[in-house]
Amino acid sequence: MAALKTTARNQGDYYVLNGSKTYITNGTQADFLTLLARTSDDPGYHSFSLFVVPTNLPGFHVSKKLDKMGMRSSDTAELYFDDMKIPSENLIGKEGEGFIQQMKQFQHERFAVLPLTYVSARDIIKETVDYIKARVVFGKPLIKKQVLRHRLVQWLSELECLQQLTYHIVRMKMASQDVTKEISMGKLIGGDILSRVTDGCLQMYGGMGFMNEMPVSRAYRDARLLSIGGGASEVMSDVIAKYEGF
Ligand SMILES: Cc1cc2nc3c(=O)[nH]c(=O)nc-3n(C[C@H](O)[C@H](O)[C@H](O)COP(=O)(O)OP(=O)(O)OC[C@H]3O[C@@H](n4cnc5c(N)ncnc54)[C@H](O)[C@@H]3O)c2cc1C
Repeated sequence: MAALKTTARNQGDYYVLNGSKTYITNGTQADFLTLLARTSDDPGYHSFSLFVVPTNLPGFHVSKKLDKMGMRSSDTAELYFDDMKIPSENLIGKEGEGFIQQMKQFQHERFAVLPLTYVSARDIIKETVDYIKARVVFGKPLIKKQVLRHRLVQWLSELECLQQLTYHIVRMKMASQDVTKEISMGKLIGGDILSRVTDGCLQMYGGMGFMNEMPVSRAYRDARLLSIGGGASEVMSDVIAKYEGF
């Protein structure tokens, strides 16, 4: 999705795409892209449109598969479009409405982060608890250390709050209410909790946690994306502040 540097010029039966886009998930293997492109040079929101772009048409190129610190089981690509002709019927909705459509899509994408956060955080906490039950230091299992137990329950309590916020959002959605603020809050909090949990769990593994072969090390690296991808935490904060009227 998304290509603010990409232009799509209307030629009647088709649009001509030019430009590039980087950080595209599954970009090396996608059969089609949902692409936001500039259809006019006018300033403002109405100069963008959304397209379905099949990747088997001439002019589509994958310039690079990017090397990432985490999320390595999914590829991320840099793409470019070189006089690529796509049929006009591939325009989604109306020309000039793409930015608004994209903002709506973001709500679904960001909402998906909430359950992803509390499920994966609880999984890594469970693995860590199993490990510190078994790991004996100076005659006692690490789980007997109150400071570690308190840290674990603090995280579990925060994750429970995030889960309940998720259910609250579902109820609001079912009542057709605007959930932009609540989803932004959940994404903001989710990215923060997951980074803290995976960092803290890695700490409980000690030196072993620092080894790339350990699932906790992978969880730590993967978690870092959540505060960046789909809108950085600071952007979530801006959205919330706007809804709060300051
Ligand atoms: C692995 C991966 C996969 C991705 N997949 C996709 C994809 O499939 N499709 C797609 O469209 N995009 C994708 N992205 C892009 C992703 O959505 C963006 O990287 C993300 O939204 C941040 O934008 P940016 O990188 O342009 O950072 P910038 O906008 O340059 O921001 C950099 C930093 O500046 C700070 N900042 C930004 N705005 C503000 C603000 N308003 N106030 C204060 N501080 C601010 C934040 O700390 C932010 O992290 C992917 C990125 C990664 C890393």
